[in-house]
Amino acid sequence: MEIRVLGTGGGFDISNSSILIDNTLLIDIGPYVYPKIKDASISHILLTHAHGDHVMGLWQYAPFRDLHIYGEKPTLERVKSFLESLSDQELLSFHNITWHPLEERGSLHILNYRISYQKARHTGEIDTLIYRINNLVYSTDNVESPEHVPFLPTCRSPYPRHRK
Ligand SMILES: [Zn+2]
Repeated sequence: MEIRVLGTGGGFDISNSSILIDNTLLIDIGPYVYPKIKDASISHILLTHAHGDHVMGLWQYAPFRDLHIYGEKPTLERVKSFLESLSDQELLSFHNITWHPLEERGSLHILNYRISYQKARHTGEIDTLIYRINNLVYSTDNVESPEHVPFLPTCRSPYPRHRK
């Protein structure tokens, strides 16, 4: 599994958090991600939550492409609404997207990947999803809380954990 880290930054950073796996599976697509993926053959995108730094690159990458997009139902509804507001039959069509709403936790089989996911608490009023693909865990913008720690039993983070 080839993992390309496209960014690790925050919302107003030019390095939006995102990873690309084997040039086909993407997690999160902020506005600064598009220049790094415009030539990739991405077919599946996992979204953690609907903040702009995780989804706004879709308006650039998604038009006229066949994509499968996964996320919690509230996330997908917000993203669909955003894309519909930009839609134009000739210039920006998003009709080839297949939307896959996810529950609070579960597992998926996409391409050759076994993916499990679990909802975590984001700061503020929304939630975010943590994804696990094989031994890779992608977790961003969530407050550390006891309910999702069991999801990460074998994880070792290279960064210090922040506690509230
Ligand atoms: Zn966020």
